[in-house]
Amino acid sequence: MIKYQIGSRNPATHYFDVSIHIDNPDPGGQCLRLPNWIPGSYMIRDFSRNMVDLSARCAGAEVAIEQIDKSNWRVPGCDQPLTINYLVYAKDLSVRSAHLDHSHGYYNGSSVFLEVVGQADQACEVSIERPAAEYCRDWRLATSLARKQAQAYDFGLYQAKDYDDLIDHPVEMGEFKKISFVACGVPHDVILSGRFECDEARLARDLKKICEHHIGFFGEPAPMDYYQFQVLVVGDGYGGLEHRSSTSLMCGRDSLPKPGQTGINDDYRNFLGLCSHEYFHTWNVKRIKPDVYQPYDLQKEVYTDLLWAFEGITSYYDDLALVRCGLIEEQDYLELLAQTMTRVRRGLGRTRQSAAESSFNTWTRFYQQDENAANAIVSYYAKGCLIAACIDLKLRALSGSERSLDDVMRRLWQDYCAQAKGVEKEGIQQLVNDIAGSDLGDFMRELIYGTGELPLAELLDCVGVSVTTRVAGNQQDKGGKDIEDELSVVDFGAFLKEGEAGLAIQRVSESGSAQSAGLSAGDVIIAIDGIKLNQGQLEKRLLLAQPDDCWTVHAFRRDELYQFEVVLQKAVASTIVLKATGSHQRQRQAWLQN
Ligand SMILES: [Zn+2]
Repeated sequence: MIKYQIGSRNPATHYFDVSIHIDNPDPGGQCLRLPNWIPGSYMIRDFSRNMVDLSARCAGAEVAIEQIDKSNWRVPGCDQPLTINYLVYAKDLSVRSAHLDHSHGYYNGSSVFLEVVGQADQACEVSIERPAAEYCRDWRLATSLARKQAQAYDFGLYQAKDYDDLIDHPVEMGEFKKISFVACGVPHDVILSGRFECDEARLARDLKKICEHHIGFFGEPAPMDYYQFQVLVVGDGYGGLEHRSSTSLMCGRDSLPKPGQTGINDDYRNFLGLCSHEYFHTWNVKRIKPDVYQPYDLQKEVYTDLLWAFEGITSYYDDLALVRCGLIEEQDYLELLAQTMTRVRRGLGRTRQSAAESSFNTWTRFYQQDENAANAIVSYYAKGCLIAACIDLKLRALSGSERSLDDVMRRLWQDYCAQAKGVEKEGIQQLVNDIAGSDLGDFMRELIYGTGELPLAELLDCVGVSVTTRVAGNQQDKGGKDIEDELSVVDFGAFLKEGEAGLAIQRVSESGSAQSAGLSAGDVIIAIDGIKLNQGQLEKRLLLAQPDDCWTVHAFRRDELYQFEVVLQKAVASTIVLKATGSHQRQRQAWLQN
């Protein structure tokens, strides 16, 4: 049994105090290590850089610790119990690491708990102590970690089956609000931290529908006996991370339904989509996972081609579940799908990187995007979602709506999870063939490893949905709906942000008007044809412009002023709108209704 303890002498310093008591350290020398990444967020984050004051004591005496590398240490052999102490600086307000101040505390075990190498399969207990400051007097504690000797929602002694379990239950502490509901017999809590207004009954009602949908989708019983949504509400922020019995979410204040608010606005719809996404992960990636994640090597990058399936299929079902459980209308769902199609279609990266390559390179590409990302890479979330749609619609078309991606997911759940088996590189393709009853190898290979356009128009036609394209209305236009206003026939080819100094170029489209003239990301446009323009004025000018018109653009690159002659190119119709047609209503219903 490894005994961990975590508290804080002074939350204002942002330090968590951690100690580890090891009864039987390795007599040949005890190694300790901290993860360098957290499952679900595929980037090396080097959590050890937040550790200070690492020390070890054996039989009351201090012992020297040898550092092996950035995240590994070794304590010389001792035949008595060993105690390790250190502090962790916690000031990352995200769902991936740890944060502590006078208002609340939050941590992922992967950021704060050293692994006792060689004893990771041992049961652990963790004493989570109320921080010493007076303002923490009324704090409560929320986690899906099993209680050992603690009151519900209170500090005290918790336990984990092993190290992997210990670090997969994030902990929130503070004065939060708790909403509870039961879905398919499983108790669920929503923990809301931060400053917000919320129609709590409505949130519980809507989330319950989503949870019941997902549990029903994979089949009862649910794989967890308790589930917790931990939501940190902030002014501006968005993100989520999945865990085996909980999820940590961050959302903006406007994402929650206000008391008295009826209908569903875009912010709340996105928030429900996020909740749906992370909850679907309870099956897809937390339990059905690539074989290379069994077990996770948290010291270094672990490469897989399959994130298009684990993130993409999850992204497909997150919104699809909303329409299937009646939270949004059919046309709302088609709008969301059209926005994803638009996102993929607008980036040249889709012609250069396949979904498999995007998955494989996530560590240095998707998670470390620069201003050229849209030209160079494709998102395995967005393209993966569209691949999932293609597979789903293909199976439906081949089987007269008798079979679908739903069957593939259920088979994945039964075949792989029941046997505690990881999904191999070709595993999903084989299952799709099985469900189709024919060889879809070429179709699947092109979707996953190809860079051509996806066959969505013809597949959507089989469920009575038409695909039309138009040019973008303005920078904010995400696609998905028709626009009444007049549309520009030219495209400036740059995404701009208005600032005091002028219009700062955030990114340019490869070979577009701006780049062809020599403009680049980082340049600040101060005048066009000798006149200073704001974003709105530029949009008006674009409406009047024709292809091949030439503009003289003055822009600063760093502190140097340059002049560029921009020849305006014809706008490309890459914004997508989907609409239900009068045909194939039965097939569309089978697809969108439960
Ligand atoms: Zn995800």
